[in-house]
Amino acid sequence: KSRLDKTLPICIYTADIGQEIESRAELERAMSGALGRGEFEIYYQPQVEALTGRLVGAEALLRWHSPELGDVGPESFIPVAEQSGLINAIGQWVLRKACEDLKLMKDIGLDHIRIAVNLSPLQFSNMTLADEIAETLRNADIEPSRLELEVTESTLMNNMSTAVEAMMNIKKHGMSLAIDDFGTGYSSLKHLQLFPLDCLKIDKCFTQDLSRKSTAEITLSIIELARRLNLRIIAEGVETREQADFFRQHNCDELQGYLYSKPIPAKALIELMKQQASTRINFNTQ
Ligand code: C2E
Ligand code: MG
Ligand code: MG
Ligand code: MG
Repeated sequence: KSRLDKTLPICIYTADIGQEIESRAELERAMSGALGRGEFEIYYQPQVEALTGRLVGAEALLRWHSPELGDVGPESFIPVAEQSGLINAIGQWVLRKACEDLKLMKDIGLDHIRIAVNLSPLQFSNMTLADEIAETLRNADIEPSRLELEVTESTLMNNMSTAVEAMMNIKKHGMSLAIDDFGTGYSSLKHLQLFPLDCLKIDKCFTQDLSRKSTAEITLSIIELARRLNLRIIAEGVETREQADFFRQHNCDELQGYLYSKPIPAKALIELMKQQASTRINFNTQ
C-alpha cells in the first residue's frame, strides 16, 4: 500500500460497502437512546508532568457500553454520531460530566488538576457552546482554565473565520485550548498563528515511530515550532521509557500514554490523585 492511500480521502467502492452502510445504520439505531439509558461512560487518561512525574491533568475519553453490541470504541461511534447529529447531545453530556467530576475533585481538595475534553467539529461550530460551558463552570465554582478543550486541525481548517471566532469566545471565558493530533491533519502553518492556542498535542503516530530518523527530526521540528509559539506541549501515545526520555530531553511539558496509564474510570483517577497527593509517590518514582 502506498502512503497516499492512507492519507488522501479517496473513496473506493468494494463489495464490502453494503456491509459497512448496514453496520453504520445499526450503530446509529443502537446509539439513539443510549445516552438516556446511561450506556456512556467517561474514562480519564492521566497526563503527567514530564520533569516531575506528577499527575497534572487527564483527558476525558468517551466509552460506550452497548448491551446489544458490546463495548464500542469512539473511533467507530463518534463519526456516526457526528453524521447523525447525535454528537451534540453526547458532547454536551461529556462536558457536563467532566465539569461534575472537576467539582468532585475540587471538593476533596484536588483543585489543581486540569481536565481535557475533545470537541467535535459540529460542537465547535455552535457559537453559544463556550458561553454554556462557562456558565456550567461558574455554577460549580471552577476556575475556567481547569478545563481544556481539544480540537483537531481539520476542525479548525474547515471554516477558518468561524473557527477563530469560536476560539476567541473560548479564550474570552478563560478556558484552555489545545490542538489535538497535531501533524496528522490538513493544517496550514500560515493559519496556525491566527489561533489563540495554549497547548499542542503531538500525535501518537510520531511518538510511536521515533526510532525512524526522519520521524524523530519532524517531531523535533514540531516541538521547536510549538516552543516558538509559546505553546505547552503534550506528547501522546507514550508507551516506552525511551519515548518518554526523548520527550523529556527535548523539553516537552507533559506526557500521556500507556506507559503511565490507560484511560480509567473517574473513581480510579480520583484514587490515583489522592494517593499521589498524600505520598511522595508519582509516576517517576513508582
Ligand atoms: P484522541 O483525542 O487523540 O485521544 C487519544 C487516543 O489515544 C485515545 O483513544 C487513547 O485511549 C489512545 N491512547 C492513549 N495512550 C495511548 C498509547 O500509549 N498507545 C496507544 N496505542 N493509544 C493510546 P480512544 O479513547 O479510543 O479515543 C479515540 C478518539 O476518539 C480520540 O482521539 C478522540 O478523537 C475521539 N474521542 C474520544 N472521546 C471523545 C469525546 O468525548 N468527544 C469527541 N468529539 N471525540 C472523542
Ligand atoms: Mg484528544
Ligand atoms: Mg490525540
Ligand atoms: Mg485521535
